[in-house]
Amino acid sequence: RDFGPVAVATPLPRRSRQAKVTWGSRIVTVGGDAPVRVQSMTNTDTVDAIGTAIQVKELAQAGSEFVRITVNTPEAAAAVPYIREQLDRMGESVPLVGDFHYNGHRLLTEFPDCAQALSKYRINPGNVGKGDKKDKQFGQMIEAAMRWDKTVRIGVNWGSLDQELLASLMDANSQRAQPWEARQVMYEALITSAIESAKLAESMGLNGDQIILSCKVSGVQDLIAVYRELARRCDYALHLGLTEAGMGTKGTVASSTALGILLQEGIGDTIRVSLTPQPGEARTQEVVVASEILQSLGLRVFVPSVTACPGCGRTTSTTFQELAKQIDDYLRAQMPVWRVRYPGVEGMKVAVMGCIVNGPGESKHADIGISLPGTGEAPAAPVFIDGEKALTLRGERIAEEFHALVEQYVER
Ligand code: SF4
Repeated sequence: RDFGPVAVATPLPRRSRQAKVTWGSRIVTVGGDAPVRVQSMTNTDTVDAIGTAIQVKELAQAGSEFVRITVNTPEAAAAVPYIREQLDRMGESVPLVGDFHYNGHRLLTEFPDCAQALSKYRINPGNVGKGDKKDKQFGQMIEAAMRWDKTVRIGVNWGSLDQELLASLMDANSQRAQPWEARQVMYEALITSAIESAKLAESMGLNGDQIILSCKVSGVQDLIAVYRELARRCDYALHLGLTEAGMGTKGTVASSTALGILLQEGIGDTIRVSLTPQPGEARTQEVVVASEILQSLGLRVFVPSVTACPGCGRTTSTTFQELAKQIDDYLRAQMPVWRVRYPGVEGMKVAVMGCIVNGPGESKHADIGISLPGTGEAPAAPVFIDGEKALTLRGERIAEEFHALVEQYVER
């Protein structure tokens, strides 16, 4: 009956090469021993430089460590230096990533100020050109990266996969005695496109440390299969994301499931959660979800965590749910200041619980916790600080008083 201790679960390490994404003195490392980075993308028309700069800043303040913008036309390319200038004026040094498709070779060559203002270029090998032009146009983008000392992400997407490569792999598959499944050929095409493009970039002179790879698909099991193999075959830093994950709950759950499994296996050096915002939902929601995935896995700590029970028939009012939300909102809102003023505060744990069943126990596990009275319990709310019962709150002002206690705890 002695089974020994239960193994502790921690994400596995995968040591990738480390890339740098820089702007001025700001250096965001990706891969190697760097923490897994959060990134996001604007949905403004890049030609609207002010609107784009404002959204970039919002995403950066929410925790996006670099922000991608669409660069699809000469007008958009011309707006990029102006967006950078606006951000610098606002004191926002978050690196910008340019998202290029079809005409990136021309835009990066004809708009050197754009090429310089960006910190990273996303190149999609599936639409960089066809036939003889493909390698030449790809090479023009790599030349720009070398000239301006930028990192590139070779980002393959199964929605825009290199059709010539796919056709040749399908041909080869048809010659096999036991052909692979169609989706296995697709996986192979995604991985081959990414790795061969990276090798081609290196053969053109780009340093392997300036290359990040991604192979995005929209199915959870497909993403897991592709990234496991991609990680096995190369040591480039990997950008991880479930593309077109969808809206609201579906997108959040699918992304969390896929990214959670891969990150636990040590796969993924930077992540994006691609959520289609619900009407009225903040654009920054995808950054919040990405940060929560990393924090839930214990890979990063961004904000104090609030443990709250779901409530049940033992709770007669919504007081504890409201209090939990208030405290959570309050802690998040304070972080820009607290992060500087109280280093380490992001590791704090707060519990807001609905009754005596799990309330005191969960509150004791937190740095500060409150167990609100459930149905039939005396109208008293014990507060636990550093694992010990410190005092009991009563009356109509329990929420305000607990709020004040949290503030005092942080200051102390
Ligand atoms: Fe219900 Fe109490 Fe458990 Fe909350 S702590 S879910 S109120 S039993």
